[in-house]
This record gives sequence, C-alpha cells and structure tokens, in this order.
Amino acid sequence: MAKRDYYEVLGVEKTADQDAIKKAYRKLAVKYHPDRNPGDKAAEEKFKEATEAYEVLSDEKKRPLYDQYGFAGLDGMGGPGAGGAQYSHAFHDFSDLFGGAGGGFSDIFDSIFGGGFGGGSSRSARGGATAGSSLRYDLHIQFKDAVYGTSADIHFKHNEQCSECKGTGGAPGSSKKTCPTCGGVGQIRQGSGFFTIQQTCPTCRGKGTIIDKPCSACRGTGIQEKSKQMSLKIPAGVDNGKRIVIRGQGDAGENGGPAGDLIVVLHVEDHPYFERDGQDLYCAVPVSLAQAALGCDITIKSLDDKKLTIKVPEGTANGKLLRIKGEGVPVSGSSRKGDLYVKIIVQVPSKLSSKQKEILKQYLELENPPKEPQLINLSKLGE
Ligand SMILES: [Zn+2]
Ligand SMILES: [Zn+2]
Repeated sequence: MAKRDYYEVLGVEKTADQDAIKKAYRKLAVKYHPDRNPGDKAAEEKFKEATEAYEVLSDEKKRPLYDQYGFAGLDGMGGPGAGGAQYSHAFHDFSDLFGGAGGGFSDIFDSIFGGGFGGGSSRSARGGATAGSSLRYDLHIQFKDAVYGTSADIHFKHNEQCSECKGTGGAPGSSKKTCPTCGGVGQIRQGSGFFTIQQTCPTCRGKGTIIDKPCSACRGTGIQEKSKQMSLKIPAGVDNGKRIVIRGQGDAGENGGPAGDLIVVLHVEDHPYFERDGQDLYCAVPVSLAQAALGCDITIKSLDDKKLTIKVPEGTANGKLLRIKGEGVPVSGSSRKGDLYVKIIVQVPSKLSSKQKEILKQYLELENPPKEPQLINLSKLGE
C-alpha cells in the first residue's frame, strides 16, 4: 500500500521547524483522536498516520534520514527484514510519547505539549479513569466592558455524566463481563509496519469490562453531550487574550476521572476613539491654532461617558500628550487606575473669512518670522 509523504500528512513545508510540526500534529490529533471519534475507523487511520509522521519528523535523527532517503532511510534503522529487533530501541515506545498506558485525550496533550490542556492526570491503566478534556470558548467583548468589567452569558456544549445511568453506561438490570477484545487489560497493542502503538481498548474504552445491556441514552459511554448556559463575570481591567478558567466545566472525565476545565479566551473589540496600552488609555482631540497658542479649557467625553475638562496650556504644540491621572484602566485587585493621555491635534484652518485673514495678516506682521529659518534636528522633535 502506498504511504503518503510525512510532510504531506502533517500539511507542513519541508522546511518546517519543530514548532510548526508540533502545531500541525496537535491539530490533527485533536481532530482524529480515537477518544473523540469512537468506532470511526477512518479517523483512527488518520490519527495513526499523523502520529507516525510526527514521530519521525520530530526526531532529530530520523528526520534527516527520511529527508534524504524517504521511507527506505527509516527501514535501515530497523524496519521489517532489517533487524526489526533493534527497532524498539531506536524508536521510543508510543506509551512513552503519550504519557504511559491509558492514553486519554487530555493526557496526550499534557505529555506532548506540556500541560495546561487536561484537567489532571489521575487515571490508571486498569479501570481507565480518564480526565475530561478542557474546552476553549472564545468570547468577544466590547472595549469599554474590558476596561470597566461586565457580565456575559455564555452558551456551550460539553460532555456530562449521563443522567440516565449515572455514568455507569449500563441499562437498568445490566451486568458487567470481561472485555473480549483486550481480555480485561484495558489496553491493546496494534502493530502497523515497523512500530506498535499501545492504546486504550476501543471496545471497553480502557475499563477492561463491557456491559451486556448498554444504557440507551448514552450508548454505554456513560457520558452525554449537553448544552449549557452560564453567566460569566468579567472583572474590570481585563485585556485582549486574557483567559478565564472555569474549573470543572469542560468535558466530564470517564470512569471516575476528573472533569476538564472550560477556558474562556477574551477577544476585546476595537473602540472607534480610544486605544489602550496596558493600564493607560489614549485618545486624540482637535484644537484650533488660536486655542493652542493662547491656551484654553476643553471638555471631552471619557470612555465611560463622563465629562472631563482638560486644561490645554498656552503654547501647546501639535501632538502634545496631556496626561489625566486616574482616568485609565482599573488595575485588577486594587483601587489604582492607569492614566488617560489626550493627544492634542492642532488644526490649521483651511478656510478663512476675510476678517480672519485680515487679523492673521496683522498678526504675521507682528510676528515677522525669518525668511531663511534654521533647520530643525528631526530627532529632537517631540512626539
Ligand atoms: Zn477492552
Ligand atoms: Zn447512560
């Protein structure tokens, strides 16, 4: 059977670095992992194919061999008919890669991608207790709500313990017997070409036992997908990309494993007039030439619709930043706030009445600027 090129399998360039390879594999693993696609043979094949590709391309010894000689280069390292016994030393066992036996969905990510995905890894090979997956929820919020805080209703789906069978997976009056596929071990080893994968038994899903009459509500899995709605409090001062972790609201664990978390990732919308840098807010306001030269008081509307009066000092240059203390973003967990910076934009009039022209001409005569002005050092210009 023709094998697909490993780079093609992962959908990466030949020049891809380790990060890109890991990322590409992670995406495929999430999509095709057997825990996510129970009973789906095609998905299982895709998962194995991607895993094999990742195994080779993430290995600094095997990748160059593969690049130079293709699959033949790897045969030389102990493929079938070439001293297969060495293979188990050259290639690390998949149970290592996936964090030991049991191999639940979240465990894979904890072991390969360094934690943060699963809700923990308290599970055992026998009995198949598996932590539930953590779920990501992307929430878009208004700029103003990120600054002052708000509450948001979130709607999501997650797997919960089946309410019919209380998670046992059995219909009323059912009994358990030893799984015929794995003989009660909960794990099977599958050979494919020159490597083997130890994985959770697909028949019993790691329990080692099967139920003669499965629960009809959950088809014996003990879990059901449920829609859920929650009101989420968004504290004042959050910024773009902030994650709010809601413990235990991810997918339910299996066979007594803990539930994963729901991870809410905040996306803050842009504001038409305000920008933010950490705890400070920025906006811009136009003033006239005469206002800038003579100084003036102007009143602007703050982000929270408060009227703020700002003193523009006499002789204010274009682009000058005026700081208004304490009108910025609240610092979470304290009563402190950042500042508001107002950028002064001096507007040169483009249309003048004849009277305005007359006055300006008189002014120009008094000012009498040099006809041959000194050049200005650009780096010494203000903002
Ligand atoms: Zn089994
Ligand atoms: Zn059930």
